[in-house]
Amino acid sequence: MIYTAPVRDMMFNLFDVIGMDHPNAPQETVEAVLTEAARFCETVALPLNASGDAEGARFDAGKVTTPKGFKDAYKAYVDGGWPSLGCAEADGGQGLPEPLQFALVEMLTSANMAFGLCPLLTTGAYHALSAHGSADLKSRYLPKLVDGTWPGTMCLTEAHCGTDLGLMKTKAAPQADGSHKLTGTKIFITYGEHDLTENIVHLVLAKLPDAPPGVKGISLFLSPKILPDGTRNAISCGSIEHKHGINGSPTCVMNFDGATGWLVGEPHKGLACMFTMMNNARLQVGIQGLGIAETAYQTATAYAKSRLQMRAVDGVKKPELAADPIIVHPDVRRMLMNMRATTEAARVLALWVGNHLEMSKHHEDPAQRQRSDDLVQLLTPVVKACLTDHGTASANDAIQVHGGHGFIKTTGVEQLARDGRIAQIYEGTNGIQALDLIGRKRNLHNGRLLQTYFAEIDMLLSRADGNSALQEFTKPLAQALATLKHVTETLGSAPLEAPSAAVDYTRLFSLVSLCHMWGLITEAALPKTNDSFYATKLKLARYFMLKVLPEIATLQQRIAAGTAPVMALAEDEF
Ligand SMILES: Cc1cc2nc3c(=O)[nH]c(=O)nc-3n(C[C@H](O)[C@H](O)[C@H](O)COP(=O)(O)OP(=O)(O)OC[C@H]3O[C@@H](n4cnc5c(N)ncnc54)[C@H](O)[C@@H]3O)c2cc1C
Repeated sequence: MIYTAPVRDMMFNLFDVIGMDHPNAPQETVEAVLTEAARFCETVALPLNASGDAEGARFDAGKVTTPKGFKDAYKAYVDGGWPSLGCAEADGGQGLPEPLQFALVEMLTSANMAFGLCPLLTTGAYHALSAHGSADLKSRYLPKLVDGTWPGTMCLTEAHCGTDLGLMKTKAAPQADGSHKLTGTKIFITYGEHDLTENIVHLVLAKLPDAPPGVKGISLFLSPKILPDGTRNAISCGSIEHKHGINGSPTCVMNFDGATGWLVGEPHKGLACMFTMMNNARLQVGIQGLGIAETAYQTATAYAKSRLQMRAVDGVKKPELAADPIIVHPDVRRMLMNMRATTEAARVLALWVGNHLEMSKHHEDPAQRQRSDDLVQLLTPVVKACLTDHGTASANDAIQVHGGHGFIKTTGVEQLARDGRIAQIYEGTNGIQALDLIGRKRNLHNGRLLQTYFAEIDMLLSRADGNSALQEFTKPLAQALATLKHVTETLGSAPLEAPSAAVDYTRLFSLVSLCHMWGLITEAALPKTNDSFYATKLKLARYFMLKVLPEIATLQQRIAAGTAPVMALAEDEF
């Protein structure tokens, strides 16, 4: 597998395209951080990727051992100060802005997704505890999560409930000292047990005795593997899963047998607290898709330049060789261009949303905080679904570019396809993200979120007035936006209409967002096209407008076809 972190592209995106402006993050600092992150990912995490996959995490009588090298790599990650990168200075973190955290997640995933999952979940646990924990819990656990000494987990799923958390059975019994005893079994818990660290901080959803039924009766608890007095809590790992990908990361059955835990946030409000973690994690999982897509592209490109098969149909390109490299063939080009034209816009989308996430929390103007929060809420399901679908599509294309060798383990691209696939499923399946977008976010505050986003696109369109070079890229955006508005306004209101259209609507929305990002990229690149880095951006933007964006017409037609074809079969006809 081939991977060099795209530091130059990230710098261009952060400063020229999205105009990140943060007191802790001047250009020199950001460049130094990204360069050092790249070094860690390329030289420490990447070399463990294939071996971690082959060896896998192992389970023996309750003990979980991570693949060879993971423990040292985690220590190097902690020693390098990476866990605290995006944590608030007030919590002992470095207070660097969210887009930098997002860039780190992308690089870690590109290099080694199974390894990168542990820090990813810890970031989510940090955010949930920081936002909702009591002063006492924070003083005991936040510093350890911030410096990575103790990583975090997220314990939601049970055998009978994944999407529908209201069905949860894990119980929390209040104790006289204010703590709770947690009893139940969670499944699929990523890094629920391992040998990387001494302690693990579990964030667990459970029901109090007086819980109302359904999701309104779920509370959030913090339950550590090792209790403050140094004894082992009543938490054990029953087994780990044998799975399709991310084999280096343990996916655990976790038994809570009267385990001590402490309430985080208010009773019965646990799902809202957990959503602090899940929303952050959903964005980061989206970025996992981006990370997979980048490595898929780089690996496929290197192969396409070196594999010799057949001659170019428009004339021999390398007469000195036995055949031309397959990169001369339009169909191979098509796959590489599909990967790259979406990946580069997807990177900007992730960083742009990360910048708004930062502004939603820290901007001095409350109106801007509100606008940024609207954008983050609206675009979280878009980033999650669009980028993870793209990760899988790119990994598939990378296999295809490699031909039969892509199906063989040594090239590494089949691992990308296996690893990246889970990102479409966990943190809420992409089908559920689509329902969130069309069913909830579309209508929230009488459509205010949508209006805020459309106004952002309109600002770019008005900047293009009188700029004919930019209009080459903003005219297709204006048309795509008009289609999205039309589809949004004409969507049927019968109960099954929105759910039937959800995935197509989310794809259509994603294409508009990617097109919006290409508008911003070309705006920044156009004045500098004497440098090939920027000239290439324009070529990629053109490919996106002419070869990717037209999918919108098909999506519009499919959405207009409504619910009837989807629901036509009676259940016994399946
Ligand atoms: C490797 C791995 C790691 C994981 N890590 C964690 C972790 O760390 N912590 C944790 O708590 N969980 C974790 N999970 C669990 C993961 O989040 C769930 O698997 C996921 O949310 C889906 O739940 P489910 O598997 O029960 O599927 P189900 O909820 O049974 O869904 C099955 C299918 O039905 C669809 N569906 C369900 N309801 C609806 C609806 N209303 N409308 C339309 N379609 C619907 C879904 O989209 C899906 O396609 C992990 C899972 C895996 C495999």
